[in-house]
Amino acid sequence: MSGLVVAMDGPSGSGKSSASRGVARALGVRYLDTGAMYRAVTWWMLRQGVDLADPEAIASRSGEPELVMSTDPDAPGVTVDGVDANGPIRTAEVTRAVSAVSAVPEVRARLVALQREIIAASLPSGGIVVEGRDIGTVVAPDATVKVFLTASADARAARRTAELSGTTVEAQKAEMARRDTLDSTRRVDPLAKAADAVELDTTPLDLDEVIAEVLRLVKERA
Ligand code: C5P
Repeated sequence: MSGLVVAMDGPSGSGKSSASRGVARALGVRYLDTGAMYRAVTWWMLRQGVDLADPEAIASRSGEPELVMSTDPDAPGVTVDGVDANGPIRTAEVTRAVSAVSAVPEVRARLVALQREIIAASLPSGGIVVEGRDIGTVVAPDATVKVFLTASADARAARRTAELSGTTVEAQKAEMARRDTLDSTRRVDPLAKAADAVELDTTPLDLDEVIAEVLRLVKERA
């Protein structure tokens, strides 16, 4: 077998990250968080003082940050120019800014190429679970299994609020709706369910149930 690729797409708060890591652990394969890559580039741009309201300014600097991804599901992470960025990429400042950066075609072209390299490198040792917004549609259209995770707006906001401090469910709901709209309506590679993806509504499920369902799909298709 040449290796397994599991594409896990969906909006924020749909439960992608925990489920993707759990599936990777259960299968003994690698794990890639592509959202962390867009966040890392955004963090670098903010540190460099790039004007994020100016897509051309973002595009012209998009080749500069050097990203190194850890694909260990027990210790995923990203370094930018050798600096550990795992804390800073989760700040509200980066979360607010990331959709403007991820909409720039030059940024996407570079990161999609890097994601495909990481996927190819994982295949000899068994494969990889990749989470994002465009994995099944763009990054890995030949993935073994494609899952599109959804959840109700209330469930998504409640999950995010539990992860963060100093916020409310209502504030999270508004922030997520804003980011979903930006991510779904951008011209290049918008958040979308692949025609051959299996949609999984995680609203009534706990984490173990989501992982079990994805593992069942993998078993069925692989
Ligand atoms: O998944 P996470 O919330 O960390 O993703 C952060 C942002 O990165 C998303 O809101 C989206 O703008 C962008 N993203 C993307 N394509 C991906 C993964 C993330 O555009 N494959």
